[in-house]
Amino acid sequence: MKHTGTRKLVIAGGGTAGWMAAAALVSRLKPEYYEITVVESSHISTIGVGESVVPSVTGFIRDLGLDEQDFIEKTEATVKLGTMFRDWSDKGQSFFHPLGTLGCELEGNEFFQCWLKAKFEGDSTPLTDYSPAAVMAKSTISVFPSGLPSDSPLLTANPALHLDSSLMRQYLVKFAEERQVKIINSHIVNVNMRENGSIESLELNNRQTVQGDFFIDCSGFRGLLIDEALDSPFLDWKQFLPCDRVAAMQTAVNRTTRPYTISTARESGWAWSIPLRSRVSSGFVYSSSHCSDTRAEQILRETAVGEPLHDPQFIPLRTGMREQMWKKNCVALGLAGGFLEPLESANIHLVTHGVKLLMELFPGIFEDQQDWPTLAAEYNARMRSEYEEIRDFTILHYCTTSRVDSEFWRRCQSNPLPDSLVEKIELFRVRGVLRISDDSLFQKSSWQAVFTGMGVFPQAYHPLVDMADFGGIQKAMLNYRTQLEDAIESLPQTGNSAPSE
Ligand SMILES: Cc1cc2nc3c(=O)[nH]c(=O)nc-3n(C[C@H](O)[C@H](O)[C@H](O)COP(=O)(O)OP(=O)(O)OC[C@H]3O[C@@H](n4cnc5c(N)ncnc54)[C@H](O)[C@@H]3O)c2cc1C
Repeated sequence: MKHTGTRKLVIAGGGTAGWMAAAALVSRLKPEYYEITVVESSHISTIGVGESVVPSVTGFIRDLGLDEQDFIEKTEATVKLGTMFRDWSDKGQSFFHPLGTLGCELEGNEFFQCWLKAKFEGDSTPLTDYSPAAVMAKSTISVFPSGLPSDSPLLTANPALHLDSSLMRQYLVKFAEERQVKIINSHIVNVNMRENGSIESLELNNRQTVQGDFFIDCSGFRGLLIDEALDSPFLDWKQFLPCDRVAAMQTAVNRTTRPYTISTARESGWAWSIPLRSRVSSGFVYSSSHCSDTRAEQILRETAVGEPLHDPQFIPLRTGMREQMWKKNCVALGLAGGFLEPLESANIHLVTHGVKLLMELFPGIFEDQQDWPTLAAEYNARMRSEYEEIRDFTILHYCTTSRVDSEFWRRCQSNPLPDSLVEKIELFRVRGVLRISDDSLFQKSSWQAVFTGMGVFPQAYHPLVDMADFGGIQKAMLNYRTQLEDAIESLPQTGNSAPSE
């Protein structure tokens, strides 16, 4: 294959998604083959409400060859061990969705099925008592793995972060700029098309025209390239996830030490509380058909802890994804590609997933553009599968509720469900079996935590568990719990206490 000259990669939009794409591309591509340009407008603000993320985001930072600890410091990040869901299954009921492992090795027997048999025999130990992250969260232990002894059973907690995404953006801008990514600060006013329907260039309001071979649309909810220029249809999932608006606010606190996100179900939606180092990000996600902005603001102010730093910001939400995330010579990432309400903190993960997949299927400088539709079809199928799995996992929190105290929650129980989720729920109800793609964000332990947290249990455990020495299994389970408790006891006391919420 021969080198056909330098390719121009143009990223439209410089929010978290745009700079994640720029950083990933520049870290992997040789500058003599590729010129990377980011076009952003300082007049259009980025979305950055103080985000809760999942472990793949720190994995992304490590893949760039960056120091995780430095990233944590520069983004003023705090430890996230999981999410506490309050009042979701019913008012007054809570459960924890932990990160990391859930259960221990039981000589080849599936942990969840053994736990289920123990439950059928009268053992009331919650599933999450077997999760290092949940046990740490209960004790408000806020340490990163680097602060744990090398033989600690708590090491499998696999914490993620609560971070300031505007600081994350700045961090990535510095990384990309040092590696010769070009930045143009101007407003994109027009997208010029080629006869074959692909994008030729972006026209800016500083009169510049930016030509490109390949474009990445990171322009946020508007989708300047993928929607307005390429007209890739949007798969709207409002019928499954009716929340379409958010009121967000930051509050000041002296110091936050709670190592988990809180999500509290309210009469017409749910409120998040994300502890950053010196402030708390709060938001109320709601259905505008069931709640006015005035009531939403009231709920937000009631739920938020600490002194408000500003008036609430209202943001309309559109849940769904582009049918073709990759169309012609353009890939959409971040909010331009799709959005799921932040209940399980998956949006920035979807950017890392998209960037990784783009690198795997990258339309290199040698290939003929005739190959692109094949690569695009694969990219679109795999992105759709990940979006749909996360969508189904998000819906699970709503459709399994027992709340009947408001029209919103009653509707959640009768809303249509995607067939893929109906199948999952039935299979779980019958025998606790789950079919999850290997590379999906939420693996079996997450589904088990949410199913059982919401009060959904299988009717029977797997018959193979009866073939095993159950007395031995019960001893091993007790032993594991004791190990986790001992490991917590042996950690130096930080004197931290969770803010009263
Ligand atoms: C309320 C809310 C809460 C969220 N919480 C979480 C969370 O807890 N965890 C999580 O993982 N994710 C969360 N997300 C999602 C996360 O914030 C986004 O996925 C992430 O910030 C990526 O955004 P983006 O870069 O795609 O878009 P944006 O941040 O909107 O950036 C768009 C960029 O495009 C530029 N632009 C737009 N139009 C033009 C133009 N005409 N010319 C030039 N430039 C232009 C803008 O200047 C900006 O730089 C949340 C999102 C919302 C809305």
